[in-house]
Amino acid sequence: MDEIRELWERIGLNMEAHDGLLEVLPGIYNEVIIEQKNRPSRMAYFDQFFSEIHGKRIAELASEKEKGASTVGAFCTYVPEEIIIALGGNCIGLCGGAEVATEEVEKILPRNTCPLIKSSFGFKLAKVCPYFELCDLVVGETTCDGKKKYYEILSDFVPVHVMELPQKKEESSKELWRKEVRKFAAKMEKVSGRKLDAGKLSEAVRVVNEKRRALKRLAEVRKAKPSVISGKDSLLISQIAFFDEPRRFTARLNELCDELEKRVEKGTGVSEDGSLRIMLSGCPMAIPNWKLPHIIEGMGATIVIEELCTGTRYYEDIVSEEEGNLEELLDSIAERYLSIDCAVFTPNDERIENIKRLAGEYKPDGIIYYSLVFCSPYSIEAYRAKKAVESCGIPFLHVETDYGTGDASLIMNRVQAFFEVIKGGK
Ligand code: SF4
Ligand code: SF4
Repeated sequence: MDEIRELWERIGLNMEAHDGLLEVLPGIYNEVIIEQKNRPSRMAYFDQFFSEIHGKRIAELASEKEKGASTVGAFCTYVPEEIIIALGGNCIGLCGGAEVATEEVEKILPRNTCPLIKSSFGFKLAKVCPYFELCDLVVGETTCDGKKKYYEILSDFVPVHVMELPQKKEESSKELWRKEVRKFAAKMEKVSGRKLDAGKLSEAVRVVNEKRRALKRLAEVRKAKPSVISGKDSLLISQIAFFDEPRRFTARLNELCDELEKRVEKGTGVSEDGSLRIMLSGCPMAIPNWKLPHIIEGMGATIVIEELCTGTRYYEDIVSEEEGNLEELLDSIAERYLSIDCAVFTPNDERIENIKRLAGEYKPDGIIYYSLVFCSPYSIEAYRAKKAVESCGIPFLHVETDYGTGDASLIMNRVQAFFEVIKGGK
């Protein structure tokens, strides 16, 4: 304990504020995650990981950093982690999922900035995120306007590299993105002091693909009735995927999937027979943003899939593993990342089609569309998602919320009314 406290001090954490954060997290985790019934035994690894999220993993990253490995923070699923790994570095997700130092943040950012951006800036201003403090570089992308302008301010605090993400998927946009991926690779070569080569990059592609395949395997077992794992546990795993060492994470997740596949064979469920199956769609849910899943599953329903960046958008597509030279590999990486269907794209028919496809595969009784307040891309796209989903006869509820708890009872009432509508239509 003393060693880790020394490390926190050394990397510049605000010890008092950080202690305060660590005091509240275990209680929340206990209530939301640990107290669930019939959890698979192999969730123990992920519980352990979470309990040491500011301890063991930080110590690992710091020790690798001493040996020359760079730590790179990302805010978005468009950042090609394969390139970071191929250059011996670690890629960490920095999106914030809790209200931190809001007063300080709102002295700089407008109050009507989305909670995810405010949260991540709050963690930086308050110096309570050891991952942020370890970063050699933070990678931004030109997705929504809030993020773009935030990165300009963030660069006063930490080195930032912004990738220009096109907003259309035409050939000229693809060309721009291929160049951006190369610029990022060149930047990473500078930061790491190493040279990218095809062998290391194709190995990193395999490592990340295996991680995504394991997440996809987890998603597959969630098609089973009864559900063999809760949505909250599944979301937790997706969130941890942005922090853990990828090879270890993949191995542990595959062990969990072995257990879950046995549960499917035996019909061992986590929920009551006939409980509602819900699909989530919308904005990413970063740790510890479990408010909506906790409300939904607290009412006896089970979330069976998340069309989120902490869900299908992160793991559905993989990079081609065809052998190739460095240029061909970089093109394959660019192609895979541009296939992500974030709401910042226009037109974004692909996402609407994907929502319908996922609904067909996971057979939810209803879809709850989640958007963060002040997130125009996802809040506006809710209209087209609703139209498409309802045309397939699936009930749809749009919940717009933030990271506070003030609206929890209102959301509970809306979710309850939604469940009654679903049950009435069955
Ligand atoms: S929602 Fe869009 S901008 Fe946000 S993390 Fe996902 S891909 Fe990136
Ligand atoms: S949630 Fe919406 S507004 Fe917030 S960073 Fe993501 S795309 Fe931008």
